[in-house]
Amino acid sequence: MRPFDYHRPDAPDAACHAAAEAGAKFLAGGTNLVDLMKLEVMAPTALVDLSRLGLDRIEEDGEGLRLGATVTNSDLAADPRIRSQWPVLSRALLAGASGQLRNKATTGGNLLQRTRCPYFYDTSADCNKRDPGAGCAALGGVQRNHAILGTSDHCVALHPSDMAVALRALDARVALRDGDGLTRVIAMDDLYRLPGDRPDLETTLAPAELITAVHLPAPHGDRQVYRKVRDRASYAFALVSMGAVLAMDAGRITHAALAYGGLAPRPWRDTEAESLLIGERPSEALFAAVADRLLRDAHPHEGTEFKVPLARRVVAAVLREATQ
Ligand SMILES: Cc1cc2nc3c(=O)[nH]c(=O)nc-3n(C[C@H](O)[C@H](O)[C@H](O)COP(=O)(O)OP(=O)(O)OC[C@H]3O[C@@H](n4cnc5c(N)ncnc54)[C@H](O)[C@@H]3O)c2cc1C
Repeated sequence: MRPFDYHRPDAPDAACHAAAEAGAKFLAGGTNLVDLMKLEVMAPTALVDLSRLGLDRIEEDGEGLRLGATVTNSDLAADPRIRSQWPVLSRALLAGASGQLRNKATTGGNLLQRTRCPYFYDTSADCNKRDPGAGCAALGGVQRNHAILGTSDHCVALHPSDMAVALRALDARVALRDGDGLTRVIAMDDLYRLPGDRPDLETTLAPAELITAVHLPAPHGDRQVYRKVRDRASYAFALVSMGAVLAMDAGRITHAALAYGGLAPRPWRDTEAESLLIGERPSEALFAAVADRLLRDAHPHEGTEFKVPLARRVVAAVLREATQ
């Protein structure tokens, strides 16, 4: 690990100001960033510790909740309001990492954790995400945990967060603040970029822009399911995951928000596929049509073909469970 400066400000504006220094990074739980520093995949010149900003609260916010950026994943998953009204979020959080990691990992850090592509972590391998223009060793390498939707010729890396999948299905919004004190709120949908020819640019955040909170609106449906398929029962990232928020009336589906992990460089949603469900009665043929629409542009490489049939089975299983 290389030497770095360390700041521990006590207010968000001071944190953004400190992070405006070239090469500075925010430090939340450190469970991803510090690992990357040890491997010298990332070498910030300064760390701006977020632990004293007072952003560790979950507060009522109109019809929903405001989740402070430094609320830990454990506290969020255990909150009785989350467990009863937003169970898809609680279940997604509990499906991620381990108890010890969730005790340190935070809302903001979870959303901005980096990909788990092994070539990104291997500094001897070419990686456009780590070193723009270097090439992509993953494309000619061993592929299992890579994306099949939204990829480019420059990058096939996955977005790894379980929490982000649930937040997309819940239409969450992200509150931001920059070094000039300017604030804005964006949809989860607008937080992440697709790789295109700049896989190093993963989000739409400006440099030194701080996530201060996530706004969780009242859920549109009370039928919520999170399912994660992985190699081990715990402590493993998703091969395919799916968060679903549905509502039904008189046997017909009236609302459907379906988000996916393990398939794409960002938590994935396909509103066209969702719209097939609206007004319909649940059936296996309907679920298959949703999967067909979702996967119509899937582009698996050698080693990731298994994700297409796996995703089909996950879609059917989740929709079956959510509509019973
Ligand atoms: C062994 C292991 C298994 C794991 N398994 C899973 C899993 O199955 N599912 C899953 O979802 N995750 C998993 N994780 C990832 C884990 O959830 C993340 O490491 C964690 O959520 C990151 O949060 P953090 O607070 O520690 O972030 P940090 O490591 O502190 O920061 C991560 C990044 O976010 C930036 N950042 C942090 N907070 C803010 C903010 N408020 N505003 C702007 N930028 C910010 C930092 O600068 C850094 O670039 C696993 C991790 C490990 C080590």
